[in-house]
Amino acid sequence: MERGKDERLGGEPGVEVLHLTEDRITFMLNNVDISVANSLRRVMLAEVPTMAIDLVEVKENTSVLHDEFIAHRLGLIPLRSEMAAQFNYARDCTCDDSCPRCSVKFTLDVKCEEAHRRNITSKDLVSEHPDVVPIDADGLGDDLGGIVIVKMGRGQELRIEAIARKGIGKEHAKFNPVGTVAMCADGAIDLNHDALSTLPLDKIYEFVNTPTDDPPGNCPAKVLLYNDISKAIQVNEQAVDEEKARDINFFDKMAYFAEWWNDFNQLKDKTAPELIRIRDRPDRFIYSVESTGVMPPALIAKVAIDVLREKVNQLQREVAKGVEDAMDGHGYAMAM
Ligand SMILES: [Zn+2]
Repeated sequence: MERGKDERLGGEPGVEVLHLTEDRITFMLNNVDISVANSLRRVMLAEVPTMAIDLVEVKENTSVLHDEFIAHRLGLIPLRSEMAAQFNYARDCTCDDSCPRCSVKFTLDVKCEEAHRRNITSKDLVSEHPDVVPIDADGLGDDLGGIVIVKMGRGQELRIEAIARKGIGKEHAKFNPVGTVAMCADGAIDLNHDALSTLPLDKIYEFVNTPTDDPPGNCPAKVLLYNDISKAIQVNEQAVDEEKARDINFFDKMAYFAEWWNDFNQLKDKTAPELIRIRDRPDRFIYSVESTGVMPPALIAKVAIDVLREKVNQLQREVAKGVEDAMDGHGYAMAM
């Protein structure tokens, strides 16, 4: 039941994808310290570059919303950003104001000629770059699809020119590519077989198959199995893998389950041993990353790893330069 001492020695860092959909990835990062794991989480939140509308020039606005309100709403429209790496940051670009290397121009020119109200949505925005366009937001509860910018009545008009630029979530939340990044340590389930063997058979069945309407002592189905022949309870590792890919809080739930059963076993005798223990794996972390739709979730993870690597490289260069400068100052020569 003791934590294995060799777990921290580990090997090379590695990534294992547990589950992948169009807007969400669940993956495991192996053989890293919590500081590295948390750095990756923070980079995914705040330092993966994306495109967003950053400059708005209102030519005509007779809608009910004032210019600043509309500019703010335009900035928050998620734009497809797979190409963001190919753009310069506006502050680093050699142009004076904006150019195709750092900016994408958008226009919106709509007049409501219809008898009834008309929704102006992200679909009315026209981009001059084929790959930097508002995300496909069909099915968000609007007839036309797209993200509603303003609702206009008959005769109202909106003419706008806007410029999208590259940025990161640290500068403004509109550049954040993720809805959520959840991270937790991987876990392991240790069963105390000697203590479990003292339970009556009906309690053993309850332990491996607790009714689902009993949440504190509830264990996800098939994670624990009772072998009638060997008379032993086993951890079903395949079910554990499936559950942690499905629910990042799986080990938290198992910890409740363990606490409930250990308390039960110690009701009559406080010195009775624990039946089950859930322990953290300090070198393995599970992430669940949900994209806002601006880029595939796997790309967010990949770009974040690249950003983190570049930070370490930069640090290495700075340290080398600092040492070199210090050596020069003291008249030493350094072979590098
Ligand atoms: Zn430029």
